[in-house]
Order: sequence, then structure tokens, then C-alpha cells
Amino acid sequence: MDDLDPDALLAYDREHVWHPYSSALAPTDAYLVESAEGVRLRLRAPDGGAHEVVDAMSSWWCAVHGYRVPELDAAARDQLGRMSHVMFGGLTHEPAVGLVRRLLALAPAGLEHVFLADSGSVSVEVAMKAALQFHLADGRPRTRFFTVRGGYHGDTFSPMSVTDPVGGMHALFRGVLPEHVFAPRPPAGIDRADDDPELVAWERTTRDLFAQNASEVAAVIVEPVLQGAGGMHVYAPRVLDVLHELAREHGALVIHDEIATGFHRTGPRWAGDRAARTPDILCVGKALTGGYLTLAAMLCTREVAEGVSRGEAGGLMHGPTFMGNPLACAVANANLDLLAARDTEAEVARVERGLASGLAPAASLASVAEVRTLGAVGVVQLREPVRVAEVTAAAVRRGVWLRPFRDLVYTMPPFVTSDADLALLTAGLVGAVADVHG
Ligand SMILES: *Cc1c(COP(=O)(O)O)cnc(C)c1O
Repeated sequence: MDDLDPDALLAYDREHVWHPYSSALAPTDAYLVESAEGVRLRLRAPDGGAHEVVDAMSSWWCAVHGYRVPELDAAARDQLGRMSHVMFGGLTHEPAVGLVRRLLALAPAGLEHVFLADSGSVSVEVAMKAALQFHLADGRPRTRFFTVRGGYHGDTFSPMSVTDPVGGMHALFRGVLPEHVFAPRPPAGIDRADDDPELVAWERTTRDLFAQNASEVAAVIVEPVLQGAGGMHVYAPRVLDVLHELAREHGALVIHDEIATGFHRTGPRWAGDRAARTPDILCVGKALTGGYLTLAAMLCTREVAEGVSRGEAGGLMHGPTFMGNPLACAVANANLDLLAARDTEAEVARVERGLASGLAPAASLASVAEVRTLGAVGVVQLREPVRVAEVTAAAVRRGVWLRPFRDLVYTMPPFVTSDADLALLTAGLVGAVADVHG
């Protein structure tokens, strides 16, 4: 079965393999990854050309230390020698307990209970379920969630229902998706003063909307400060203050979805640290295993955990087959130890400087509307939708792997990317935009 040469592999892939958000009738050409090491991928392009490229995506924001990381390889190998997996019902193991201890040590004070989930979307499912069960147990069922437009919380149905109605394709699934309450997208820009007129107007609209639905709202769910897959949109911490105040006033919980922003991606350990607000529930994922294996977690306060557990069901009604997978937990532990051993905050600050200076020239391109950076996130927003296949190919020719979407050509590189590779990456990104869009 494994005797296909690269061309045959790519041909078979085109015929039979689903890729994310892809059409079986008109599949886009995939690049074949032959190996990955450090911050580099070795690719074979659809035209057969071999390329070594700097990874500007961290494999969808996960591989913060790059690839073939000795410490993570060793952790996986060591755990393989003990056990890859055992069920989590009625059993426990050191990798899971160790991970929960590490997560609680890193989490905002007040979070005390952890549910291990097998993907980010599942952790959001569990967070939403916990919020619903919490209110049910009080004998005051609440069935709606409050969020802002432009968010992204995952692709399974409950996360999709609180993802931006347009980006989340709510029209496509009308009648199936529950209808939740969407405030306007917060105005762009992290540095807005509290009395900024646009922010004040946003607050007024949001307060009115919340008040109209208050008795039904189980929880607010939000990506703190940076909305990721919903458009790489950065907003002021004041927005979090307002959402927390509203939730407290009206007896709703607050869920922070830090699946994209957690573990220093935007600078501080949690993007929510900028507002110094502890959520009732926190979701983490993506970088949790350094990009090695799928794993996520839902963390909550004792109050939420006890509320959920007091209810008629007697517990949190979720239990995935691969819950607490020991292999994933062992790698996550090594990843968190590595992040702690390095001065990750300083590393991210260095990456931010490299991205800001390297992407600045894009601002003078005719096709570019805005350039922005936040931590290890660099965004070039065009005035038109990106011609994705062409920009990707142009970037590969320039030695960089990108995956643009909508009008955004962006990078979330591994934190370990050297200054020289950041220069190569940003020059390749700006060059690819210039090549294709001018
Ligand atoms: C990626 C992401 C998710 C979904 O995680 P999956 O592991 O893809 O299910 C949820 N929320 C945010 C903010 C994300 O960036």
C-alpha cells in the first residue's frame, strides 16, 4: 500500500482525500510534505518541484517550537514505552494528573477543575454544556449564549452556533443551528481609550442587546483581544471589561476561548490577562502539545464545577473515547515545561519586533489596506480577497509556507524562528503579495 511515488500520492489525494473546507469536484492542489525540522518544511509542489520553506503558520498556530523538537520527541518515545492510551472512565494516569497540575499553575487564579478534551471544538462544546448544566442545576434554565460578531469557536455545531453568523455559514445550516445573541464586532485597535467614541457606541449597543436577552443568557463566550480565524481582528481590553460587567450584572458566566491566543501567542500568557479578568471557564488547545497531537482542555472555577455537579444529571455529561490520551498529555507536559524553561514572553516580543519591521514595507503596496502585528501574529490585510493558490505558490517560490484566507495574508510563526528566518519569512510574504496583487 505504501509504494506510491510522490506524483501518485498527490494524484490519489486529489481523487479521494478531503482537505479542510474543500470541494471534491474542484480540489485545490495540495503540497506534499516529505519532512519537517526546526522551522522548515520540505515540500513537493503540485508541479513536482522540491522546496524547502520556512513555516509561517506553525501548522495552524500549534507548532510553537517548530518540528522534531528533541524534548517533545523524547517525551512521546518515553510514553510509548509505557502506554499510548487507556480509557479515562474509572482510570487515571500520571501524564493526565501532571498536565492538570501544570495547567492550573498557569491558569488565572480561581480556575480549579479541568476537563481534558480531544480538540478545541470539543473543549468549546464542553464549556457550553457546562454553562447550560450550571444554570439548570439552579432551577433557572438559560439556553442562549451571548457573543460578538466576527468570532470563531470551532466547526462542530455548538461552537459553530457562536461563530460569526456569516463566517460560520449560519444561513447554510438554518433550522439546525440554535440562534444565539450577537453584539456588533468590537471596534478595531488594542489602544482605544475607554472614552473612545466608537468604543462607547459599541458599549451602548451591547448593553442594550444584553439587557433585552439577559434572563436567557447562560454565558458570554469570547476570544480575548484577538479574534483569530474570524478575521485576525484586534480589539481593546475594555471590551472584555464590559462583557464581564454585563455577565456579572445579569448572572451569566463568562467563557474565554484562548485556544488560539493562549500560551503567549499574543504576548502575555493569556490574552485575557490584558484585562485582568478571570473567566468562569477557559478553553485551551492548539499550542497545548506544541503541535504534536490533538488535545485541548476546559478549565473552570470551583463554583461552576460544583454548580454543574449539583444538578439532576449528577455530573458533567461528556466523556470522549480518547479523553486524557496519555501520549498527548505526556507531550503537552514536555511542551509546557519547555515554554517555562525558555523566556517565552521575551521570545514572543522578539518575534513581534521582527514581524513589525519585516512587514512594514507591505503598507506601501497598492493592494494592501492595513498591516498589523500583535505578539507573534503578523497580518497583512488586502483591499480584495486573496488569490490564495497564487499567493501560496509565490510564497513557496520565495521559501515561505503561508495559508491566507479571505482578504488576509498573515503569519503566526513558531516562537523559535530566528531573526534571520523572520526576515526571510516577512520578505517572502510581502514579496508574494506584491507578485500576485501588486
Ligand atoms: C482553532 C480554534 C478552535 C477550534 O479548535 P479545533 O482544535 O480546530 O477544534 C476554537 N476556538 C478558537 C479560538 C480557535 O482558534
